[in-house]
Amino acid sequence: MEQKVYTLANLDCANCAAKIEAKFNALPEVEAATIVFATRQLRLTAEDPDGLIEKLTQIGRTVERDFEIHTDAHTHHNHHECHCHDHEHDHHHEHDTGWGSLVTILLGAGLFLAGILLQPLTLLASLPCFIAAYLILGWDILKTAAKNLLRGHVFDENFLMSIATIGAFVIQEYPEAVGVMLFYRVGRYFEQRAVERSRSQIMEAVDLRPETVLLSDGTVIPAAAAKAGDLVQVRPGDRIPLDGTVISGESRIDTAPITGESVPVAARQGDAVLSGCMNLSGLLTLRVEKPLSESMVTRILQSVENAAAGKPKIDRFITRFAKYYTPAVVAAAALVAIVPSLITGNWNYWVYTALSFLVMSCPCALVLSVPLAYFSGIGMGSKQGILFKSGLTMEAMANIKAVAMDKTGTLTEGSFTVRQVSGGDDVLSLCASCEQFSTHPIAVSILAAAKERGLSFTKPEQVEELAGQGIRAVFGGKTVLCGNEKLLAAHGISIEAQRAGMTCVYVAESGVLLGQITLGDTIKNDASEAVSQLHRMNIHTAILTGDGEVASQAIGKELGIDSVYARLLPEQKLETLQQLRKTHGSVMFVGDGINDAPVLSGADVGAAMGSGADAAIEAADVVFMTSKTRAIPTALRIAAQTRRIAWQNVIFALAVKLIVMILGVLGYASMGAAVFADSGVAVICILHALAPLYLKKSVKK
Ligand code: ADP
Ligand code: MG
Repeated sequence: MEQKVYTLANLDCANCAAKIEAKFNALPEVEAATIVFATRQLRLTAEDPDGLIEKLTQIGRTVERDFEIHTDAHTHHNHHECHCHDHEHDHHHEHDTGWGSLVTILLGAGLFLAGILLQPLTLLASLPCFIAAYLILGWDILKTAAKNLLRGHVFDENFLMSIATIGAFVIQEYPEAVGVMLFYRVGRYFEQRAVERSRSQIMEAVDLRPETVLLSDGTVIPAAAAKAGDLVQVRPGDRIPLDGTVISGESRIDTAPITGESVPVAARQGDAVLSGCMNLSGLLTLRVEKPLSESMVTRILQSVENAAAGKPKIDRFITRFAKYYTPAVVAAAALVAIVPSLITGNWNYWVYTALSFLVMSCPCALVLSVPLAYFSGIGMGSKQGILFKSGLTMEAMANIKAVAMDKTGTLTEGSFTVRQVSGGDDVLSLCASCEQFSTHPIAVSILAAAKERGLSFTKPEQVEELAGQGIRAVFGGKTVLCGNEKLLAAHGISIEAQRAGMTCVYVAESGVLLGQITLGDTIKNDASEAVSQLHRMNIHTAILTGDGEVASQAIGKELGIDSVYARLLPEQKLETLQQLRKTHGSVMFVGDGINDAPVLSGADVGAAMGSGADAAIEAADVVFMTSKTRAIPTALRIAAQTRRIAWQNVIFALAVKLIVMILGVLGYASMGAAVFADSGVAVICILHALAPLYLKKSVKK
């Protein structure tokens, strides 16, 4: 099985996207197909996706569209452009945003107005105006309706719209018929514009890929053509195009586009810089380390696109609901047309009411507003350095009741400094020799301290890292241990109490304690604020750490953490997490990923602090590119806000439609109101989904 991503170039209708997705999934060759309306992407998992897409020219009848395959060079690999031809189009929407459509609308509106003005004088003069206006405005819709009807699609919105307006003609409501068609076109026009705008707004925020790069010899090449090892020039004010290393120059870099952190960092020769960040002050020459397809800008874009494909449950629910919505409204319309008419004999009135129902029969606003709200939330997260891996986990985050945090790297900086060495330089040197292959923050700081003192290392004959405990190595046949009291206790060496707030690494050789290294770590400056924000959100907080009891309790107390669990091995962290889940409900775990991959994947939501290990970023559901603890409450708030907006949209759209229908039955039927309940509501839902992006302050950092 293979998954490939295709772009459906002119996918403009959310409801059609859902229908096409269902058709794809019904094909026996397809393992899974997901169409994301917001990104226009089709993710196809099948034995041979390319071959399948090729065959779709024949299946075109089933999926209602023709496809043409292009390999898209600019976007990432495994990504193809897949154009749907217009000539066989079944969706008039495709024209709705162009100039042509605006001209049609204006022309139709002019004739409509002429008809209205002439009507009081003579019907003979006004009727041709109405008919001409109707045909100009509705031709595409009528044509599409006819075509779809031949294929047996009775619940097609074009068909229902045609019935509604032709019906209005039949009951001699001429201005009504044309007016509805006109407002429908105008509504659709704005709806499409709003969708377009929202898509580009969000993509602008997340797509930081450069078009071209400036090589140091002055030539400009397409960004995708740059290879690792090329030298590129980045002027002040330019965005760093590709991940690279500074070869010459000095500057300050604004990493906010990637990490959301607003304090610029210095960059000079030898420093690694990430694509997407802004070069603020000096001219830099970079050596490209990663081509465009592997650089951070592409990884972020892909992560957002992937996230949009992980549809939340509410999205799937609405898609399923939409399938029944149209037939239900049509059935209601049929009832309203027939039953009261038989009783009252007032056929014209009740047919009119029924026709207004048909105008509202498209579930577009519903189907559209939920994925757009999630896409907007995902985009907003990415702008603040928070990468949600899927809409589904974002939805789960809105239910979180407890947050369990790793201590090192999450609540503390994770950059230890060696405070004290008892046993002398020999102990430090021996310890550094053991730690030289480890990536643990403790190891990194011990190595730094040893190098600073100019100590030499020896190469162990054997070395083994024990997660959550330390290192066991063999030098000249002697076993050396360096790690916490748990490690030493396991080898029969007991340790007396440690100092508060400090992390100790004990060094023993052949079962004899040689000395200890005391390390201090600083608490992140925003950790305390983050914890109190969580408490204000009524979320239980906990520390799950492998570090010693005393050091961990001290930090827990200082930050006001609800519960502290220390001296945990990676598997024990998972057990503790399960207990927390039993008492509090959904639990999110946040860690740097060193020694906590099992909890990350075992939690309801696993979050990795971006400074952490690659394995963690793989296993996590959310990645914080920033190292700020405040990202935790921010992410939870974005998730909660997104869920709220999605539900508000669903309820609002359904409520307006229901109210307009009820008003119709009560004797206040109006086709104008029905058109508003259709496209007007859709536009409002789109704007509401986008609101957090426009009102940037609505989610505080
Ligand atoms: P945390 O849960 O705080 O991230 P870890 O599970 O990574 O902690 O490690 C727990 C403890 O195990 C550390 O506090 C340290 O005492 C010990 N330890 C782990 N790795 C090492 C190492 N490479 N060298 C020395 N001690 C280590
Ligand atoms: Mg850790």
